[in-house]
Amino acid sequence: MPYRLGMDIFSSINHYLAKLFFPPACVSCKTEGSFLCEACIGKISLMKNMRRENPLKDGLIQAIYTPCDYHSNRPLQKALHGLKYNYYKDVSTSLAEILQKSFRVNPPPPGTHLVPIPLHKRREAFRGFNQAELLAEHLSWLTKYPISNVLKREINTASQATLNKEQRQENMKNAFEINLENAPPKNTPIMLVDDVCTTLSTFKSAAQTLQKHGYRIILCTALAQA
Ligand SMILES: [Zn+2]
Repeated sequence: MPYRLGMDIFSSINHYLAKLFFPPACVSCKTEGSFLCEACIGKISLMKNMRRENPLKDGLIQAIYTPCDYHSNRPLQKALHGLKYNYYKDVSTSLAEILQKSFRVNPPPPGTHLVPIPLHKRREAFRGFNQAELLAEHLSWLTKYPISNVLKREINTASQATLNKEQRQENMKNAFEINLENAPPKNTPIMLVDDVCTTLSTFKSAAQTLQKHGYRIILCTALAQA
């Protein structure tokens, strides 16, 4: 599928009207004008090591791109929270620009497809969007790497937030399936995209599903590892 912004004319108009009547305020400092102001974007510092090789130590995922340090970046924490829980979709544009910077420093292999981590349909319907997909769409638009919705979520897993490492891994086991209609050729390098990661159990489960279906070059990215 070619890269796309996923915004039709009606949602653009809605978006414009919403901005007109409810001017956005920065999620971090509350300054009016945008959901994440330039000053706060400037405060989100980038790590020296934005790409780490073989993060699971078993060769399943070749590298992970996490450009930011979560704990020292208050504006980033606010932005991710705003995106996930307050439905501030616009924040995803600024966050995708940060991911783009890490791609500039360490370009993924040519022909890499971006694959957002899917949400279960029920959760996506509740939230109205999948934040990982928004990030991947903006990142695709910025970097011209195509986006493929290769994965689908079959099980409505419990929220990971309250679980420990073992419970998270158990919870994510077999959570994903391949969406054959959108599957690129097996030799396509895949970059999994999520907003934030913790124990890597979501990326691991998604990568295992891809590997089972013949994909060998699997990378992943999230703004930060929390
Ligand atoms: Zn701000």
